[in-house]
Amino acid sequence: MLFGRLKKNPIKIADKPVVEWKYTTCGYCSTGCSIEVGVDANGEAITSRGVGSADVNRGKLCLKGIFEHELFRSSGRGRVPLIRKRFYEPFKETSWDKALDHSASEIKRIQETYGRDAFAIVSTGQIMTEEFYTLGKLARGVLGTNNYDGNTTLCMASAVSGYKRSFGSDGPPGCYDDFEHTDCLIAFGSNLPEQHPIIFWRLKQALEKRKFPVIVVDPRVTMLAQMADMHLPITPGTDVVLINSLMHVILDEGLEDREYINAHTSGYEEFIKIVEEYNPVMAAKICGIDEDTIRNVARTYAKAGAAMSIWTMGINQSTHGSDGVVNINNLNLVTGNIGKPGGTSLSITGQCNAMGTREWSSCSGLPGYRVLEKEKDREDIAKFWGIDPEFFPKKRGLFQTDIFPAIETGQIKGLWIVATNPMTSMPNTARIRKTLEKLEFLVVQDAYEDMETNEYSHVYFPASIWAEKEGCFTNTERRVNLIRNVIKPYAESKPDLWIFNEMAKRFEQGQKIKFPETTEGVFDELRQLSKGRMLDYSGMSYEKIESHRGIQWPCTEGAETGSPRLYTDGKFQHEDGKAKLIPLIFIDNNERPDDDYPFWLNTGRVVEHFHTRTRTGKVGNLNKFSPTPYMEMNPDAAKELGITHGSYARLTSRRGDAVVMVQLTQRVAPNSVFIPFHFHECVNRISLGLLDPHSRQPAFKQCAVKVEPATDQGTAAVRNKAARAF
Ligand code: SF4
Repeated sequence: MLFGRLKKNPIKIADKPVVEWKYTTCGYCSTGCSIEVGVDANGEAITSRGVGSADVNRGKLCLKGIFEHELFRSSGRGRVPLIRKRFYEPFKETSWDKALDHSASEIKRIQETYGRDAFAIVSTGQIMTEEFYTLGKLARGVLGTNNYDGNTTLCMASAVSGYKRSFGSDGPPGCYDDFEHTDCLIAFGSNLPEQHPIIFWRLKQALEKRKFPVIVVDPRVTMLAQMADMHLPITPGTDVVLINSLMHVILDEGLEDREYINAHTSGYEEFIKIVEEYNPVMAAKICGIDEDTIRNVARTYAKAGAAMSIWTMGINQSTHGSDGVVNINNLNLVTGNIGKPGGTSLSITGQCNAMGTREWSSCSGLPGYRVLEKEKDREDIAKFWGIDPEFFPKKRGLFQTDIFPAIETGQIKGLWIVATNPMTSMPNTARIRKTLEKLEFLVVQDAYEDMETNEYSHVYFPASIWAEKEGCFTNTERRVNLIRNVIKPYAESKPDLWIFNEMAKRFEQGQKIKFPETTEGVFDELRQLSKGRMLDYSGMSYEKIESHRGIQWPCTEGAETGSPRLYTDGKFQHEDGKAKLIPLIFIDNNERPDDDYPFWLNTGRVVEHFHTRTRTGKVGNLNKFSPTPYMEMNPDAAKELGITHGSYARLTSRRGDAVVMVQLTQRVAPNSVFIPFHFHECVNRISLGLLDPHSRQPAFKQCAVKVEPATDQGTAAVRNKAARAF
């Protein structure tokens, strides 16, 4: 018997008339895939492909990367600067000079009237490192506002805070190559296949060569949990308890790496007193994982030759996200799993250049992991920029999540938003809307003029996007990679670097400081300022980065390439050179389900979309594959409430409500629901977002809601369609 067609008639994919392939790096997630964009004879970008010789992605791209060239001409792009007196009036088109002059004069008016800190800046994880550094120079060295932060407070602040507390500095110590060497991996609150598909593929590749146990800790049966050897469906927000109990077993059974603890850590005596309290019997009652499983995981991890932990928002977006990170570090310190192949604490970062902003933007301090609190750091940067060190504040100002409440209380009167969309991304949408309406002046700088936050602005700066400009991103594994300029900026949009430089010229102090006009000129300043420091860039150049397809810092002057791991010598950045073991007590301070609001609401991502869909909502295939906000609900819970698959349900929390289409699935427990966070007027109408005390990151992933069938399914469908069309 013959199967298939006798006569072969293969589908022919139309040849694309590419005349040149240009090297760049993906502008979505922090995996840092190398991409080549094909341009045609008219200079238009017509296709994208992965770069085979790049170690990160080895020729592969995920769905978002494959269609990335479509961004350049996607709908909603800002063509020209826009201006208006009041946010509810229609915009008028204006020139760049007028938009910049007016914005500079409003910044001066606000700062002269209310003080320098009354004008705030909220930036992003999306622009180039050189642009971050220049914005930092403008914010700290020219405007002198201390209320300057990035949207990375919504995603990576807990990882930064946890690394600093444990190791004395930010900087993920591991790399993707650790998958090739590890003997056990625990993923905490990280759904790699959807969030970071190419990192997941690297993990799969490693597993195909050499089997090792994969343990997933997540309240939801995610795609990663489905392929794991063990899935621990933890009670939301109780990671600190679980990890304390794992360490309790390890120390109780003498499975720790005593030599490493003695040589490279401090604080053991205090630490052990707390860990002793968290025996598995007690912990099981809080975190919902039975005591035998806790013991089994603890033994598996501690007995592995090398073991590693990865995590994402399941840890970071919690009222004790920073503690969660510290405790993962504690686990790896007591088992001697830092700085060795396959043994690490690797936070999987979110945005393409969240690392670049952490390193160079000066949001949390000064460039190159310097801090405002250290006199020497203030003096070094003041000298380099040619300003008085007294111009700098002596400690950092407000985080992004504290800037909006400060607008509410009248402390901040003006705001500059760069490539971020708080109207969709921040918890409690109604509250954010009220704060934006209250501002005397709001300038929004973004590639898309139709993003929701721009509805409240007085001036709009149309920014160029991704490879319409040139510069670097740093990925999750500290790899600096290059974005070459692929095509001309759209219409009259301008690179962010140009916008910051032009703004600086409009201030007296800005005219005294050197602002290089090219990104390569800025990169040279990064090389100088990083020399001899942990994040040493001095051995890199644009050509070298491109030829290596990305270089990991530190890369010292004269070195052939970068370093895959940090802390290989066991020396940390605290003054005594040791890592700190920090005892952590579980504080149960978040909202929990009760009789009135009986479900946990969990949020997360889908593979097709990135953040608030300002980009992926416009790219044809991505939006086609995932056009609608939806809610995963357990079939048993739905049956009790009379809710059916594909119908609309209304979710209510103490903050607001939203209507979503229901998808019945066993992936969520009967007392939980899950909604992707990408869609406007959806999950953040409901979320609470209590803040972590160390990182100020919101607990997006845990709040209490009630669910009921939407009474009018027709109206719900119309409302959903309207939200989708935005
Ligand atoms: Fe881009 Fe991330 Fe996809 Fe790689 S995995 S192509 S970096 S979105």
